[in-house]
Amino acid sequence: MSTSADTTAPPLSPLPHDTEGLKQSIRDAMVRFVGKDPKQATQRDWLDATSFAVRERMIERRLLTRRQFDAEDVKRVYYLSMEYLIGRMLEANLRNTGILDETREALAQLGQDYDEIVAWEDDAALGNGGLGRLAACILESLATQGYPGFGYGIRYEYGMFRQQFEPYRQVEHPDNWLRYGNPWEFPRAERKYPIRFYGEVVEHHRNDGSVHYSWEDGEQILAMAYDYPTAGYGRRNVNNLRLWGAKATRDFDLRYFNEGDYIRAVADKSQSESISMVLYPNDATAIGKELRLKQEYFFVAASLHDILDRHTELGYTLDDLPHQVAIQLNDTHPAIAVAELMRLLMDRHGLHWARAWELCRQVFAYTNHTLMPEALETWPVDLMTRVLPRHMQIIYRINHEFLEMVRRRFPGDEERLKRLSLIDEEGGRNVRMAHLAVVGSHQINGVAALHTELLKQTLFADFYQLWPERFVNVTNGVTPRLWMIQANPELTEFLGEKIGHDWQYDLERLRALEPWVADPELQQKFQQVKRKNKERLATLVRERTGIRIRTDVLFDVQIKRIHEYKRQLLKLLHVIELYNRIRDGENVPPRVVIFGGKAAPGYQRAKDIIQVINEVADVINHDPQVGDRLKCVFIPNYEVSAATVIIPAADLSEQISTAGFEASGTGNMKLALNGALTVGTLDGANIEIRDAVGEDNIFIFGMTESEVVAHRARGEVPEAMLAGRPALSRTVEMIEQGYFTCDDNATHAELGHYLRHQDPFFVLADYPAYREACERADALYAQPECWNTAALTNIARMGYFSIDRTVRDYAEKIWDATPEPVAPKRNGG
Ligand SMILES: *Cc1c(COP(=O)(O)O)cnc(C)c1O
Repeated sequence: MSTSADTTAPPLSPLPHDTEGLKQSIRDAMVRFVGKDPKQATQRDWLDATSFAVRERMIERRLLTRRQFDAEDVKRVYYLSMEYLIGRMLEANLRNTGILDETREALAQLGQDYDEIVAWEDDAALGNGGLGRLAACILESLATQGYPGFGYGIRYEYGMFRQQFEPYRQVEHPDNWLRYGNPWEFPRAERKYPIRFYGEVVEHHRNDGSVHYSWEDGEQILAMAYDYPTAGYGRRNVNNLRLWGAKATRDFDLRYFNEGDYIRAVADKSQSESISMVLYPNDATAIGKELRLKQEYFFVAASLHDILDRHTELGYTLDDLPHQVAIQLNDTHPAIAVAELMRLLMDRHGLHWARAWELCRQVFAYTNHTLMPEALETWPVDLMTRVLPRHMQIIYRINHEFLEMVRRRFPGDEERLKRLSLIDEEGGRNVRMAHLAVVGSHQINGVAALHTELLKQTLFADFYQLWPERFVNVTNGVTPRLWMIQANPELTEFLGEKIGHDWQYDLERLRALEPWVADPELQQKFQQVKRKNKERLATLVRERTGIRIRTDVLFDVQIKRIHEYKRQLLKLLHVIELYNRIRDGENVPPRVVIFGGKAAPGYQRAKDIIQVINEVADVINHDPQVGDRLKCVFIPNYEVSAATVIIPAADLSEQISTAGFEASGTGNMKLALNGALTVGTLDGANIEIRDAVGEDNIFIFGMTESEVVAHRARGEVPEAMLAGRPALSRTVEMIEQGYFTCDDNATHAELGHYLRHQDPFFVLADYPAYREACERADALYAQPECWNTAALTNIARMGYFSIDRTVRDYAEKIWDATPEPVAPKRNGG
């Protein structure tokens, strides 16, 4: 907040944003940063040189943005997330900085092909799926809309594994994404915080009779900051994503160095640095491993330390915290923050319990992402006591005060106390992290309307009864910058010609398209765009799988993590039935079915499903009787960069989870925004998508959430669904009998048995309705004018699902934060 003239001036002289200037910068970077003669440079070298040239242009805006926030007394929003599923950074940064076309041209003039160069970049895949992608979309929107919003997370050395099929079953390969260094990160050697684990709590009695606690001994490691500038769209604000990497402390090494055991010291160093080594590749399951708990505490402790340091460096007091700081917990992974902030406020800053608790509650808010019991994090009390002894103490005290309050409101209701307690006493004692997050937050949100209602009625019903005002809905969204402008440049241009560009900042403006959705000329152009996108996808499919697909047929797409509740098996049963009908000589409308998605490495059922899909696909794709009337492709290694190619080419979007299980979904939004029609259950945000696009423009089928509950209560055997359904019975029998496998009857038999006798997600019960919905889709696709009208109507009405609306909802309902006027545009920059 200095006012001296030379530090308020822009920190750099402006860099040119035109083709000539970029060409110069890229060539300079090749020599100065990459250290190569352009004549000898590889495509990866060109990727690095281009990245350096872009990064130079972003970092000045980052500094200006920071100065503006520092000067203007703004409330800062901190987003704490274990996961960020970002994807490739060069193209995103070029696009948001507004120099994509110029850079493409500059590279061309340097004799390089832009598309080939960007493809060398590894995805930043620091997340599993929807939760991590939401975090990435939120950061992009915070920057675009000018909110002082910062992300905190972990700089995993190994991100999400790379998936291969060998030849049918998933095999995981490590994702060593930092192997060649990363031009986007700024290591901050001065932002290092010691993080303690284990040790013990020491009680100090003061003269005034008060008791003070300190946490001592144990082991310490350092959390070091790595900053990733996050550019807002339109050359505006550049915010920061700060990821923490683990470093060994020197003290720690010394123990052994003094004993002369050099090798042991170095080995121990890498042991302690293993905390940030690898992302746990589990989606929607809790892990319960000590290293995971340490990861969670590691990044939370470093982030809170950093937040409080910044707060005091800016001259604020702790009393100012609720006015200056909002912290959003993305799921319960960072929920230990509640106990950590209490520890800091009391043990380090000397506040008494009541005041610390008041501040804590005003700062935190918690986003829930799932109702599934296996995904709810709990930590054994023994483990937490050993790893984080002071936090366990604080959690006991929070629980004590909380349950006392409940007792006063509901005297004698012991069952209620058990249900609400932060400690689950059944089957060994465990800390319920969701309860800690709820009690420590002023607002709790679900991620779609249905999901939030179910939170109130089921998982958090007792909490809702206590504090109804704390529960709010914030329906997820997606950024149109990545999922339209970047993924679908053809459609972006098409929209620009018809309705201008305002929708890029205000997606509701896509409504301007609505008067033309039935216009034959527009429809023809739309169809041409789809066709080009299908050709692009067909190329990717050929390169990755060797399969050739035609591009004049319906593209039916299911891309998401492989999970029983997401019901890839439902789609597979339909594929097998289509195959049978073709072989029976029926005239089935042609289609290409595309799957993509990873299974958690230890999730055998999901891996079985992948294997069987691949085997079925292999039989179908090689059956001369089928020819190109049906193709089935499982694209390996589904990730953000693959999604940007698949989504714009889709006609049909499969959103077919068992109702009540998909919290929101965001894949559903990306696909509809790109003009795919949804075949979906009334689950998650599908319901709101139906409300937005209209019942005639979506294919809804199957049991509702309450029908699923009732069906489950009836306890029918799944097999009963096969009676009177010969086509479905035949399909299940073919799986059971190993029709599609030459060497693994066991897996197929097991999967058939599972469907017939267990079917926990009601695939068989929903199948008849699902097949009927697919037939409605086929019938509409046979009438291109009707289909295109529906597809264009989907696009026109998807404005609500912009991440910008989501972020504004958080800002208004939860953070009480306002956007700053965007950093001024500068000439040429
Ligand atoms: C959007 C996205 C997801 C989430 O998809 P859902 O269909 O909502 O589960 C998962 N992975 C990637 C790479 C994504 O881009």
